[in-house]
Amino acid sequence: FENVNKWYKTYHALRDINGEVSTGEVVVVCGPSGSGKSTMIRTINKLEDIASGTIRVQGQCINDKHVNINQLRAGIGFVFQHFNLFPHLSVKDNVALSPIKVAGQSKAQAYEMADELLEKVGLYAKKDDMPANLSGGQQQRVAIARALAQQPPVILFDEPTSALDPEMVGEVLNVMKKLAADGMTMICVTHEMNFAREVADRIWFMDQGKLLEDTTSNAFFTQATHERARKFLADII
Ligand code: ATP
Ligand code: MG
Repeated sequence: FENVNKWYKTYHALRDINGEVSTGEVVVVCGPSGSGKSTMIRTINKLEDIASGTIRVQGQCINDKHVNINQLRAGIGFVFQHFNLFPHLSVKDNVALSPIKVAGQSKAQAYEMADELLEKVGLYAKKDDMPANLSGGQQQRVAIARALAQQPPVILFDEPTSALDPEMVGEVLNVMKKLAADGMTMICVTHEMNFAREVADRIWFMDQGKLLEDTTSNAFFTQATHERARKFLADII
């Protein structure tokens, strides 16, 4: 991000955002409600347009007019709060769809990869089930497998556990921890501060559309620079 600004009509939602995520890094984005976390993360795959500044993914400037949005989105994994799996497709079809339709893989290849990914998220046994027959935590793990199937250089998470019943949060966080350990580049908006402490290389703290702190996880939890961040931590932990 270089000097990125965004307005919703007259509301200045992102104010001069500057930041960089390196390959293999896990960045946790936190901050109060309405601070711009979702807006920021959604600009990375152009679910939100920006007014000024530059966003680059793997060196490619995504706000260039010539960028093919579908190609861009297919190359970036996105896991939302609400898993929005395709309800009429089985678990394995949900995972294999994009590799076949967008990446042009053969069916055999795509289903082989789907098997591997479902194994990885602990759901191989459910591969022929329909999403509606899965728990929320299981559906979210399928959503993660589906994002991975695009073999993206980065996966974005926007509060992936906040719509889940408490007993299902851990299974989703464990899958995310495994991805992080495998070296996946991840940008995660989450209020799970234990996950942040354990897994994040860096924390981005947002407040009122600004990226107020960009610091190591350790520094954030022990010596946040801004009063606003210290208050946030005191309230949430
Ligand atoms: P939360 O923790 O509640 O998810 P957030 O940090 O993700 O909050 P955003 O959803 O990015 O916050 O919203 C940032 C600001 O932009 C808020 O003040 C919100 O009201 C405003 N906003 C978000 N989406 C829109 C929209 N489509 N139109 C107008 N204003 C919007
Ligand atoms: Mg949000």
